[in-house]
Amino acid sequence: GRAMAVFTSGGDSSGMNSAVRSVVRMGLYLGCKVYFIYEGYQGMIDGNEYIKEADWNAVSDIIQRGGTIIGSARCKDFTDRSGRLKACKNLVDRDITNLVCIGGDGSLTGANLFRQEWPELIQELVNQGKITPEKANKCPNIQIAGLVGSIDNDFCGTDMTIGTDTALQRIMEAVDAVVSTAQSHQRAFVIEVMGRHCGYLALVAALASEADFCFIPEWPPPTNWREILCEKLAHSRSMGQRLNIVIVAEGAIDREGHKISSDMVRDVVANNLGYDTRTTVLGHVQRGGNPSAFDRLLGCRMGAEATIALMEMTPESEPCVISIDGNQIVRVPLMECVFRTKAVQKAMDELDWELAVKLRGRSFQRNLD
Ligand code: ATP
Repeated sequence: GRAMAVFTSGGDSSGMNSAVRSVVRMGLYLGCKVYFIYEGYQGMIDGNEYIKEADWNAVSDIIQRGGTIIGSARCKDFTDRSGRLKACKNLVDRDITNLVCIGGDGSLTGANLFRQEWPELIQELVNQGKITPEKANKCPNIQIAGLVGSIDNDFCGTDMTIGTDTALQRIMEAVDAVVSTAQSHQRAFVIEVMGRHCGYLALVAALASEADFCFIPEWPPPTNWREILCEKLAHSRSMGQRLNIVIVAEGAIDREGHKISSDMVRDVVANNLGYDTRTTVLGHVQRGGNPSAFDRLLGCRMGAEATIALMEMTPESEPCVISIDGNQIVRVPLMECVFRTKAVQKAMDELDWELAVKLRGRSFQRNLD
C-alpha cells in the first residue's frame, strides 16, 4: 500500500484531533501505511522520532480533546530550501508520498511550494548521493490535501474552519457569565474577542448574545461611531434594559484603518453616558477546551475526505483543500483559496470594505446581513 503522513501546523484549534483520528483510520482502512509527523514542519525536518507510524489505537480517546496531540509549531527552517530538502529526505526514506496538512493559509502555502519543488529536491538528493535513483523513482511526486484548522474562520473557500464553532461556544459561555453580573449591577461590558484580522467570531458572538453593538474589521463603523454607539446604548436603557454588551473584534478598525480597541470603546461609553463600564479581554480561553460536536464531526468528515482525495489523485492533480460548502464536504483548489484569503487582507488595507465582505464568503455575508 501507499504511505501517507498527517501533521498539524500553525495555531492549534479544537477539532484537529478529530481530523487526525479520521485521517489515520481512513488511511489504515484503505490499506495505507500512515505516519504522524510531530510538531509540524519542524518534525518533518528533524525526522527520527518525530515521524512515527500510527496504528488504529494510537488515535483512540482523542476525539474529545482540544488542541492537537501530535503538536503544532511555527518553523522558520521550512521557509528555507535547505530545510525543505531535509524534510524531503525524511519523507522519501519512509516512502511517504501523500501528505495531509492541517493548518492555516501559511502552512498550506508552504505545502504547495514543497510539492512544486519536490522533483528538484529529489534530483538534488540523488546528485548528493543521499538517496538512490531507485528510491527517487519510487517517489517522483508528492500529493497534498489540506484541512483548515483555525478558530478565526478566516480562510476563503470553506464555510467553516475546524475549531471556530468551539471557540464560539467558549465565547458564549464567557459572555453569559458577564451578562449575569452586568444585569445585577446595571453595567456596560465591552468584550474583546479573538479573530486576528477576521471579524467572524465577533459578529456571530454578537448575534448569539444579543449584544447592543459590534465592531469588526470588515465593516468599520461610520466616522461618527461614538455618537451612534452612545445613542444606541442609551436607547436600550430607556427601553428598560439594565445592561449593555458591546463586542469588539481584536482586529477592529475605523474607516481610516486605525485600530478601535476595547479600552477606547469603554472610555467613550463611560465618559459620555456615565455608565459603570468594564472591559473584558477573553484571550486564550477561547482557543481551548473540548471540541463541540460540530467541530468533532467537521474534523471527522474532512479528514476522511482528505484521505480519499489523496488516493484518487494523480501526479497532475493540483493540491486541494477539503472544505464545507453548505452541508457538503467538497474539494477546492488550494492555491485559489490562499490567493482569495490574501485578497481579503489587501482589500482591507485598501479600505475597500464591500470587496472584503464579498471575498469573505457566504457564511460571513449572511451573518452580516
Ligand atoms: P495560523 O492561521 O494559525 O497562523 P498558519 O498556517 O497560517 O496558521 P503560519 O505561521 O503562517 O501559520 O505558518 C506555519 C508554518 O508554515 C510556518 O512556520 C512555516 O514553517 C510554514 N510556512 C508558512 N508560509 C510559508 C511559505 N511561504 N513557504 C514555506 N513555508 C511556509
